[in-house]
Amino acid sequence: SELAEELGLNLKEFDKNILANIFTGQTLIDNNSPLALAYAGHQFGNFVPQLGDGRAVLLGEVISKKNQRFDIQLKGSGHTPFSRNGDGNSSLGPVIREYIVSEAMFHLGVPTTRALAAVATGETVHRETPLPGGVFTRVASSHIRIGTFEYFASRGDLNNLKILLDYTIDRHYPEIKSDLNICLSFLKKVADAHATMVSHWMSLGFIHGVMNTDNMAISGETIDFGPCAFMDEFSFDKVFSSIDRHGRYAYNNQISIAKWNLYRLASCLIPFIHKDENKAVKIIEESITSYIDIYEKKWIEKMGLKLGIFEATLKDQELINLWLQTLEDGEHDFTLSFRDLLENPELFQNDPLFETFHSSWQQQIQRQNKTDKDIKSLMETVNPVFIPRNHQVERAIQGTINGDLSVFNEMIQVIKNPYQEQAQFESFKIPPKPNERITATFCGT
Ligand code: AMP
Ligand code: MG
Repeated sequence: SELAEELGLNLKEFDKNILANIFTGQTLIDNNSPLALAYAGHQFGNFVPQLGDGRAVLLGEVISKKNQRFDIQLKGSGHTPFSRNGDGNSSLGPVIREYIVSEAMFHLGVPTTRALAAVATGETVHRETPLPGGVFTRVASSHIRIGTFEYFASRGDLNNLKILLDYTIDRHYPEIKSDLNICLSFLKKVADAHATMVSHWMSLGFIHGVMNTDNMAISGETIDFGPCAFMDEFSFDKVFSSIDRHGRYAYNNQISIAKWNLYRLASCLIPFIHKDENKAVKIIEESITSYIDIYEKKWIEKMGLKLGIFEATLKDQELINLWLQTLEDGEHDFTLSFRDLLENPELFQNDPLFETFHSSWQQQIQRQNKTDKDIKSLMETVNPVFIPRNHQVERAIQGTINGDLSVFNEMIQVIKNPYQEQAQFESFKIPPKPNERITATFCGT
């Protein structure tokens, strides 16, 4: 209801039954005509020329109270022209997961799509087993993906590709409209937005799980929360997704994959750069080379802040990696360790790398012209106490499926203030016991 308010949607006048009808697509408001979007995409590295919204429909757009334009989309509302062999439905589990995790991301400060509603349909959907169905309502600053560009580019449909490009720039990056080489400016904008987003993920131990080009929004918002999860004990190669057998989208690959995805977008724009394809490729490559390290730069900045370094640069990379290696070797909890570093450093006493790390870290933070208080308050501002831990998300899902919303409601409360201690929710702070660990997640498609 808070989000509805921000969007200027007047939902208060409707009772729950009417809302359930609206947010499953049974009742249309304002005579809008829903549509499914076409897109292509590289899935696990392989190009698929036609994907599209197979189980989602765009209800329409709204202008928020802050004068921003948003899409409202139903996910799991049934067949569309792009459903292929799928049923167009979602099961309730993934609906609840996306709801919790996307809202958590928002409150953690990560650019993300948001959750407006989740409805249990009362229908059964058939996956490996029969499951209760659900519909999720997503709010996004748009649903334009890298894959949307690939759709038209791969068909050689330059007219529509140009319309899409102009539209996208108008909608997301109007400040570059009068730039001399608008395609290159556009790529740089997207690189910047994706670097910001992915470095944010990395800094929170978030693993998206399916960074296919059809799941990468041009806006730089995190989108398509499928088998995503936050790590508990740190591991560079952590994978949750049951379908990511080779670890393509493992935690520590996310930056290089984001770059790989940017090159896929760049290749769509070749025809607009120069008549001579070879020349076009050369121009694009040179341009991208000049700023591609933005991804590492942003990562270093973000990780630096977590360690109390106000302006981290390339020379801090080694220190950051030493810390991460300490966490991995000692199987420490990623989220809590950044807080413990200040508050309970004795916890790392027995870690072989810790002493080396700690002395160079101390040197580094003391070199800054900052008081201990400044450093402490920085670290408390950027290091969350609460993330939606996977085993708790699973509990919330199981509860919801059984008609008990208590864990779900508690989690929604907790994630609204992730950077603050909340004594009454202490249990959500604690990592899972070995027997509570959830090691695999499913996209539920
Ligand atoms: P996702 O894994 O959610 O990124 O989906 C990849 C593609 O599969 C998209 O084109 C989806 O629309 C499509 N898809 C996923 N689940 C279904 C389903 N149950 N029915 C139809 N299409 C689906
Ligand atoms: Mg998708």
